[in-house]
Amino acid sequence: MFGHFTQISDHLFVHHSCVNVGIIRSGSLAMLIDCGDESVRTTLNKLGITKIVAVLFTHHHRDNVAGIADVADVGTEICVPESERKYFENVEDFWSDPTHRWHLYNYHPHNLMLAKSVKVTKTYKDGDHILFGDAKITVKDTPGHTDASVSYLVESNNVHVIFSGDLIYDEGQIWDLYSLQKGDWGTDYHGFLGDRKRLANSLRLLKDENSSFLVPTHGNIISEPASAIDTLIGHIDLCYDRYLGISALRHYAPDFFPYYKNKNGHMPIRSGKNPPSFLRHFGTTWIIISENRQAFVMDCGSVQVIQEIEKLQGLGEISEITELWVTHYHDDHVDAIPVFLNKFPCNTRADSRVAQVIENPEAYRIPCISPAVIKVDYQTEEGESWEWNEFKMTAFHFPGQTYYHGGLLVEGQNLKLFFSGDSFTMAGIDDYCSGNRNWLGNNTGFSRCLRLIGELKPSHIFNCHVDCAFDFTDQQIEMMLTNLSERELLYKKLFPWDHPNYGMDEHWVSCYPYEQKVSSGERVKLEVKFTNHSHEPRTATCQPYLPKSWHMSIDSQSAEIPPKTTSGIGFFIDIPKNAQKNKRIVIPVDMSYNGRPLGQFREAIFVT
Ligand SMILES: [Zn+2]
Ligand SMILES: [Zn+2]
Repeated sequence: MFGHFTQISDHLFVHHSCVNVGIIRSGSLAMLIDCGDESVRTTLNKLGITKIVAVLFTHHHRDNVAGIADVADVGTEICVPESERKYFENVEDFWSDPTHRWHLYNYHPHNLMLAKSVKVTKTYKDGDHILFGDAKITVKDTPGHTDASVSYLVESNNVHVIFSGDLIYDEGQIWDLYSLQKGDWGTDYHGFLGDRKRLANSLRLLKDENSSFLVPTHGNIISEPASAIDTLIGHIDLCYDRYLGISALRHYAPDFFPYYKNKNGHMPIRSGKNPPSFLRHFGTTWIIISENRQAFVMDCGSVQVIQEIEKLQGLGEISEITELWVTHYHDDHVDAIPVFLNKFPCNTRADSRVAQVIENPEAYRIPCISPAVIKVDYQTEEGESWEWNEFKMTAFHFPGQTYYHGGLLVEGQNLKLFFSGDSFTMAGIDDYCSGNRNWLGNNTGFSRCLRLIGELKPSHIFNCHVDCAFDFTDQQIEMMLTNLSERELLYKKLFPWDHPNYGMDEHWVSCYPYEQKVSSGERVKLEVKFTNHSHEPRTATCQPYLPKSWHMSIDSQSAEIPPKTTSGIGFFIDIPKNAQKNKRIVIPVDMSYNGRPLGQFREAIFVT
């Protein structure tokens, strides 16, 4: 299907590549809806079209827009939704703004944005009309996939077609879930499926139009829009219900979910218990105090924690600090660690996945990332134990709240304590930020974490943000595991992928390092890492796009990614001798996976 086109009516065509491109023809002239890559040129040639009068964009995402530089003729009008204009025309502002690089709690606009600005000639808002040939086009605001995406209603030869952006992929399906991460309150970070209501409203608006076809940006041409839309809204409501039923968020914001209280399939929130007297809790930090008054510290997100530790020392409650354990990479857990280590030099330990990120944060662009660089003295592997005074410590990879997360079992004084980082509260699991890579699947992600808790049977579980301890009954663990397997089936129906994690885990493809400093004349390495969530090997192909002023290009490369592994395709790039200094250069990477073209789906940053 890709690279081909479908004829809908005498003057209306859809070209299929990494996205669907609408082509409205009038003689040898055309108007396009969305653009994708440059492959639409082939279809235009086949149709005898010699000039593109205008390209109308549904939204600003790079996979949808990137080909425009090669496709536009002299004089082609670039027409975009009014409220997204800056994400076409001023993208340099986005890329140079450190708030879009570090401490990431907001995901709108998304970084799937053009590497270089394009000049916009016209903007459209709700209700605008465009006439072209025999076609009448009406603009409708349909936010949901992005904050200001629009749909185009096209009437031509008595056929009524809606180009609906990425609101829907096919009957009951959507392209991804992470674009719906949106804050109902506070930042986007806590808003899993937060945009579901806006999405549903936009879809209902389109349903009311009674069009013959919906043409999504990504997906299949939909010939029964009403049932396709109803099924999708139903699926998403069910997904949200399953999510909320065991969400840790209910503990932090109990009043926010009144409608869901005592709902069938929702786990009752368990009450907490007192922590043992040898523990202290400040901010996100737990401290274990040994009988000999030495201290073992977990995380340090703020200097207030350091002041509290100094007070304890002043009171004679603790002598020295001998170890620091880092639960995960989030900024509220690591921001103050460099200052902490200056004050209290001690051994640092973390799970090897956590260490990867905190030793080299520039290499990652993931939620709540801190620029603090932390040297980890001991990287722990699964089940590794060590003695600390009267306690036995055992480390685990604990892919709960994030994939880059460790769990620590502490045994001593006849107790069995488990420090779960931020992964659980008494209400359930912390998976409210889809960017954190919460994989579904038996014995992966939270399923792995819950099974481990079920085996270890700790007397007390701790969360870095919760003052009291808690535990789970076997029944509750079973209930959460059942919920997760139900979700796996549900999400599988929701996405056009053979495994739901492709639609859930935004970072299944990423550039490594995400950002690196480069010098002119130097040869640098850039890897594109794919996580193959499928049960069979998958072929991946990718090609980085270097700045045109560098007068060099890179050939595309392919590799087979074994099932259930993460593996990379490496490129060596020679930085030109005359490369401008002090620039942040965005290198978009075009790719395809299992034969499906994805366009410029990811990017890396070079800092000269
Ligand atoms: Zn999109
Ligand atoms: Zn966290």
